[in-house]
Amino acid sequence: MAVYIDKSKKIVIKVGSSILIDKKGKPKKIWLREFVKDIKFLIKKKKKVVIVSSGAIALGCEFLNINKKGLKVDKSQAVASIGQIELMDFYKKTFDKSKIKISQILLTLEDTEQRRRSLNARRTIDNLLAMGIIPIVNENDTTATTEIKYGDNDRLASRVSQIIGADCLILLSDVDGLYNDNPKKNKKTKLIKIVKEIDENIKNYATKIKSFYGSGGMTTKIEAAKICQFAGCYMAIANGNYINPIKKIIKNNNCTWFLPKVSKLDARKQWIMGSIAPKGEVIIDRGAVNAIKSGKSLLPAGVKKINGAFEKGDHILVKDQDNLECARGLSSFSSIEIEKIKGSHSSKIKSILGYSSREEIIHKDDLVKV
Ligand code: GLU
Repeated sequence: MAVYIDKSKKIVIKVGSSILIDKKGKPKKIWLREFVKDIKFLIKKKKKVVIVSSGAIALGCEFLNINKKGLKVDKSQAVASIGQIELMDFYKKTFDKSKIKISQILLTLEDTEQRRRSLNARRTIDNLLAMGIIPIVNENDTTATTEIKYGDNDRLASRVSQIIGADCLILLSDVDGLYNDNPKKNKKTKLIKIVKEIDENIKNYATKIKSFYGSGGMTTKIEAAKICQFAGCYMAIANGNYINPIKKIIKNNNCTWFLPKVSKLDARKQWIMGSIAPKGEVIIDRGAVNAIKSGKSLLPAGVKKINGAFEKGDHILVKDQDNLECARGLSSFSSIEIEKIKGSHSSKIKSILGYSSREEIIHKDDLVKV
């Protein structure tokens, strides 16, 4: 509800390519001019605003007069490096007219998956906000390859929201929000206004009418919502095609809001929970599941199986024997080491590995229950 915007101090707004650029590939000048008025309105209300914007590849294609469809990864990286300047030029010229200063931040997945680098990004963004500047964030498409890529700005925006401790994220997309069916086919379809729990129903709504949601899809938005929920951040999926979309949300509230989980995790645990690309997973027995539920560490004795190759300190998923995720955490061992010590009592670790180390596969301080 509008009240969520009202009570938020730090707000992240994600602008998708299709909102900013028309079907012919041209930047939508009137839309952005009006959007800047929305931002001005928020600034007046003493809100700190960060924008996450796509459009580098689309504007690069327009500049070079080439087709976006079928672009190979290496070519699109080159195109993005051209389009990113076009994108920022468009923002700068428009914001300049309202005397609002902006900055550019390009992030790669590694910048947020590594704790130290994510804290650096946070500090930079906080400094910019303190100077009254609007940071405009995009993925650093020029160096991101398929394996180390967010791939979409929905998840990037939610990760940025989590890292900077935003109160609210608004994903401006080309639909009003999440529906329980296809509004084009079923007249009784309802827009879901509030989501408290992302259960199977919600996930089904997101995948059931995939084609209706278009290229960006709803799945990445649901993933973004999950990150926000654990980060204590409200998230809206709203239609950005309207002129003055933010004022429109405040006035009509015609969108879908995801509410944060009641218990707010500490910043480090939020960061663990918001990992975009866990490197592997461990499957654990029922005893270990119960131990985790009661707040204990994960010990080698409870580990049955390991999937993926990972190093000490990497993000991993913890799953039960039905393959359901029950926790996430930072591994104290590499996957090779866990392969050797799984099923064993912690007191045996030293003799098996030949060196002393921690007793837990994931220490409770590095573990978050799902
Ligand atoms: N980073 C990409 C771009 O600027 C867009 C990714 C997305 O739209 O989700 O073109």
